[in-house]
Amino acid sequence: MSFQLPKLPYAYDALEPHIDALTMEIHHSKHHNGYTTNLNNAIAGTDLESKDILDILADMDMDNAAVRNNGGGFYNHDLFWKVMSPNGGGTPSGALAEAINAAYGSFDSFKEAFSKAAATRFGSGWAWLCVHKGGKVEVCSSANQDNPIMPGIGCGGAPILGLDVWEHAYYLNYQNRRPDYIKAFFNVINWEEVSRRYEEGK
Ligand code: MN
Repeated sequence: MSFQLPKLPYAYDALEPHIDALTMEIHHSKHHNGYTTNLNNAIAGTDLESKDILDILADMDMDNAAVRNNGGGFYNHDLFWKVMSPNGGGTPSGALAEAINAAYGSFDSFKEAFSKAAATRFGSGWAWLCVHKGGKVEVCSSANQDNPIMPGIGCGGAPILGLDVWEHAYYLNYQNRRPDYIKAFFNVINWEEVSRRYEEGK
């Protein structure tokens, strides 16, 4: 299988002012495109060519740096674009809201826990909200392009919300102010899509 760079579900400038157009364009057309190309190169001629990305991630040989970094980068950014929307923000509803309240007491406490995971991830990585089988949700973070689908990474759940905290995700607009970027992210979260992933993953 050859992986294709997924199209953004909105225009590069659609998430302004929270995420600026130039950051989105470089992030998608250069960074995500690079992970996609490098993943295809890394799996070419191997038995991974016939697998889908979730199987590649779940069965990852963590010593295979090229597949680990680029497979993670390919999947993580696809999730990231989809859990954001120009019509996003607000709070979740339904079963996801109940699961967040059960785990964290309130949406605000969850927001604090997620923001802390994103702010304290040293260097490059991701903050996640994951769902475990049975429906319990949990916040975690991972380094570089790792994600909790990979063996031994994060909380081991299925990621349903992810925030890229690599400097390439925010530095043009926010420079070193990662906390401001994290705050802005909450204005564009597509909770409908996160809920859909919650239902699928629980
Ligand atoms: Mn990125």
